[in-house]
Amino acid sequence: MDATLTRVRDDVFRRNPGETEFHQAVVEVFETLEPVLRKHPEFGEAAILQRICEPERQIIFRVPWVDDAGQVRINRGFRVEFNSALGPYKGGLRFHPSVYLGIVKFLGFEQIFKNALTGMPIGGGKGGSDFDPRGKSDAEVMRFCQSFMTELYRHIGEYTDVPAGDIGVGGREIGYLFGQYKRITNRYESGVLTGKGVSWGGSLVRPEATGYGAVMFVEEMLKTKGMSLDGQRVIVSGSGNVAINAIAKAQYLGGKVIACSDSSGYVVDEAGIDVALLRQIKEGERGRISDYAARRGNGSSFVAGGSIWDAGATVALPCATQNELGESDAVSLLKSGVVAVAEGANMPCTPKAIEIFQEAGVLFGPGKAANAGGVATSALEMQQNASRDAWTFEHTERRLSEIMVNIHDRCAETAEEYGAPGNYVVGANIGGFVKVADAMLALGVI
Ligand code: GLU
Repeated sequence: MDATLTRVRDDVFRRNPGETEFHQAVVEVFETLEPVLRKHPEFGEAAILQRICEPERQIIFRVPWVDDAGQVRINRGFRVEFNSALGPYKGGLRFHPSVYLGIVKFLGFEQIFKNALTGMPIGGGKGGSDFDPRGKSDAEVMRFCQSFMTELYRHIGEYTDVPAGDIGVGGREIGYLFGQYKRITNRYESGVLTGKGVSWGGSLVRPEATGYGAVMFVEEMLKTKGMSLDGQRVIVSGSGNVAINAIAKAQYLGGKVIACSDSSGYVVDEAGIDVALLRQIKEGERGRISDYAARRGNGSSFVAGGSIWDAGATVALPCATQNELGESDAVSLLKSGVVAVAEGANMPCTPKAIEIFQEAGVLFGPGKAANAGGVATSALEMQQNASRDAWTFEHTERRLSEIMVNIHDRCAETAEEYGAPGNYVVGANIGGFVKVADAMLALGVI
């Protein structure tokens, strides 16, 4: 890293103490930017680096709600409106007990570049709460969402900031949030949230988009080496929306997905994961993955704790959460002959794991590129809302596929242009950064 990058990085550390995930996300981008600053001295003169690391606006608010026992409960709500150079702030809401400002900022920072890479007119933002939906009744989740929106509504809008889902926020939560927004504002403003149900303004393919997109990205990476997913042994970590749809698409393309997980452990099913059963348990019953092995009845096993990556794979898709795949996991995957890794989650691989994959010549697709299909399809949902239209599944999936192929090609070309052929981390970071930096320059010192 050159002197300017080091100085700005140290400033970010000093001004955002204790926000380790945010620091990690910034360093990961900065480590690839040296050749960009050499080629574009104007970015340095306009202090683009300093500005891009400082969110345009950060909102933190109290979310009081009443549980089923009549007790008053308090959570903390966040919305970080990071960058609007390319369009309204866009990014999901995460409801998980681990959420604090550092997590929201890491996610918001990643989102700026991811969204730029999609080629759609969307800025970057992220939000959420330390609320834990697990074990809560529907009525509690509804009251929480209503209280959350009672503050959030004044900060968002179709042309301002468009939230969506992330971990802990799916169709149910988006419904309650949209209902409260509509009630407070007296506007049927469909474009204010994405991930809506299809009967009330949502887009077909949006639920599948992140997982499908990640698999489409892997297929493109494999193609560059004359390979495909057909016949690969695949591990998909997680068992939420991204993981389930990644499993379905990988199987459709001929991959054999032999394991998935949740926070309690993982299942190994050598016959290939039964997606319908997994969906029933996780989405239908909001149950635990340990149930899967018992109900599958084919000798598949549940391993409590442990590392899913030890099950061995040639293609690995981390689709659970940040920093879930570390150094020893990367080493373990290399031993089983892994050829491609793509991040369905945001920042699931640690910096050390990424280094190990890249040094071994493993195709590595970073989240900013590989999981961009979700937010890209959110932008397609916004398009449909703006034109009061609803597209078919086939048309929307074709658009998603074109976008993923485009992102892949742009990353590959950018990596080549900046002297790092085959390095998708360099391609994604630089491709996203240059687009946002150019727009920021054009808009003046704002
Ligand atoms: N939370 C998703 C992401 O990490 C989707 C965001 C969106 O659709 O706005 O990209």
